[in-house]
Amino acid sequence: MPNCDWGRPCNCRECTEMNRKEICDICIENKTIITHSQYEMGRKGISYYRFINYCQKCWDEKKKKDEIERQKELEEERKKGENRDLLQKRLEKIDHNPTPIKNAVAKFREQIKIGNSDKYIRDDIIRRFKDILKVEKTRNRWYCCKNRLELIDFRLFFY
Ligand SMILES: [Zn+2]
Ligand SMILES: [Zn+2]
Repeated sequence: MPNCDWGRPCNCRECTEMNRKEICDICIENKTIITHSQYEMGRKGISYYRFINYCQKCWDEKKKKDEIERQKELEEERKKGENRDLLQKRLEKIDHNPTPIKNAVAKFREQIKIGNSDKYIRDDIIRRFKDILKVEKTRNRWYCCKNRLELIDFRLFFY
């Protein structure tokens, strides 16, 4: 029996050993050469390790696929970065036209699906998008620039 901390996801040597099978889980044919653990988040937010046994051939294929995935993600990151730069340039040229910050919160909600409260999102916008949206406080109320808000794509700032 492993003497690691039960209740917490674990992929120590003993836990890995316990999940080792002789035959590859993917092709169900060749001999296992590696028992790979993958940290996963289940429903209800409970995390665990998923153990998968790989033969040499399936392991090589998995690594190839992972590499392709990684390249795709890097490419998407790069594109997002480019689009952010383009956006920044367009924003620099437009006039200032104040609008209540709640309009920014509404657009944020349309583009980013999160369960946080309006106040949380508002504070996040004030902090992170202060410059890009020209956020300012006038007579105790927060405003941002309407023209900038129309152009911004909040999705470019989230991964
Ligand atoms: Zn363990
Ligand atoms: Zn296999």
